[in-house]
Amino acid sequence: MRKKIVAGNWKMNKNCDEAEELVVQLVVGLKNLDHNTDEIVLCPPALFLQDVTLKISNSSKMYSSSQNCHTHESGAYTGEISAKMIKSVGATYTLVGHSERRMYNHESDEMLATKVNTALANGLKVIFCCGESLDIRNSGNHVSFVTTQLQNSLFHLSDSDFKNIVIAYEPIWAIGTGVTASTEQAQEMHAEIRKFLASKYGQAIADDTSILYGGSCNPKNAKELFSQTDVDGGLIGGASLVASDFISIIQSF
Ligand code: PEP
Repeated sequence: MRKKIVAGNWKMNKNCDEAEELVVQLVVGLKNLDHNTDEIVLCPPALFLQDVTLKISNSSKMYSSSQNCHTHESGAYTGEISAKMIKSVGATYTLVGHSERRMYNHESDEMLATKVNTALANGLKVIFCCGESLDIRNSGNHVSFVTTQLQNSLFHLSDSDFKNIVIAYEPIWAIGTGVTASTEQAQEMHAEIRKFLASKYGQAIADDTSILYGGSCNPKNAKELFSQTDVDGGLIGGASLVASDFISIIQSF
């Protein structure tokens, strides 16, 4: 049975006090709250990952994630953060392949395949992001573009490794723009992704893989998006920075 997951990507937002305030508001707000989300994942800036991880350690269903990890386990890579370090502070997940990193840091599918390997080898689970630009969507090639991203970065994995992967479909044209994919657009792509996963890993593994939607998901549209058969939750950017909005999205299943 695949999990319903709501993940909050704080990106490069919040200072130390603000990050603490947000995580405390979430812990308090979610305590004793009735909801059907199986996992709530917080992705703070790396600087605050250890503190956030400690603050959620006694909260049920709450996990932490890095926003990125390096391809190498250690070495002369000034300013970088390794999967081993992320694991050592108690985080459960790392994001890999967010479109902002693909764009600003020139992360290729091949590089992301190496990041996935390093993350899994160090005991992290991976939320793997994929998604097309508006040009590709308008050309009608969105499904083949996204499935190629998945093939290039994930399809070398064994069945047992693949079970530690969560997919986040995030159309680039919907990220931070206020333009959300329609429920039909989201469901179509999620179903295509699941079909593609089944072609490689079989229907059982595909059915067990959580596929999250990301892109201007907010308290107003989350319920409708999450009601789609193949939408198993969300990767939330802007709306994860306000505790009441994020909690409302968590309650949208
Ligand atoms: C994201 O960056 O992963 C994201 C989905 O952002 P937003 O919700 O702000 O569109």
